[in-house]
Amino acid sequence: MPTLFEGKVVLVTGAGSGIGRAAAQLFAARGALVYCAGRQEAKLAQTQAMIEATGGLARVAAADVSREEDVAALLSRIDREEARLDVALNNAGITGGAHRIEDYPMQDFEEVMRVNLTSVFLGMKYELPLMRKTGGGAICNTASVAAITGPGGMCAYAASKHGVLGLTRVAAMENAAHHVRVNALAPGWTDTPMVAANSAQNPAFAKLALSAIPAKRGARAEEAAAAAVWLCSPEASYVLGQMLVVDGGMTIGG
Ligand code: NAD
Repeated sequence: MPTLFEGKVVLVTGAGSGIGRAAAQLFAARGALVYCAGRQEAKLAQTQAMIEATGGLARVAAADVSREEDVAALLSRIDREEARLDVALNNAGITGGAHRIEDYPMQDFEEVMRVNLTSVFLGMKYELPLMRKTGGGAICNTASVAAITGPGGMCAYAASKHGVLGLTRVAAMENAAHHVRVNALAPGWTDTPMVAANSAQNPAFAKLALSAIPAKRGARAEEAAAAAVWLCSPEASYVLGQMLVVDGGMTIGG
């Protein structure tokens, strides 16, 4: 479906690497103009270059998505330049450290919550009015299998991703009648820079975790991105307030 997003304006956060970069490429390959947002301009410029090398349209948008002034400025730029926003993938995130709750530093907990959860709230706060202005749109928020499980040592991450699911459901409920569909993506183990960094710190755990996945491998970033792109496409027109799990069977057994 190369033209599924023809003429559409799409915002992807965390577009400088991993799932966000793969999604930005896929949206552009299907005809969209993609705003590639994130903190690291050089990595965003690489994504833009990759998209343009295949004939796609992309713009770099440097922003810290946990800061309201950055998010507000980003959405007002899109409004000024294109006067519309059809799709947003609120995807930027961090894992934070691994500590038991009693040892988790408060500052680290708050940072994970700000980057993973407050960013999704802020994103939707400014995306929704722009989408509604032109008759509707679609939003996908990147959660995680940690939105339905409690991985030991990851209290901040799991709490933030459970929160993303809650925000997604509320936003879907509030906007269904305004023709904005809101859903979430729950990737399992996906081979991205985030996971590579964690695996390098604990290779034995990484090996064990991978062997426990029924598919016996992690996802490619493109596999997770494809599910997000589908959720935002007209092909998912009657899917609202859902979280699509893309985890190689990791959570089948509960
Ligand atoms: P990644 O590290 O490659 O991508 C995350 C991106 O977010 C990076 O480009 C980073 O620069 C950006 N970012 C971080 N903080 C930001 C901020 N404050 N403002 C703007 N940008 C910021 O990792 P990824 O695996 O592609 O992660 C994408 C999303 O997928 C995250 O929300 C993550 O929690 C989620 N996820 C990943 C996995 C996995 O196994 N890789 C599993 C479940 C969920």
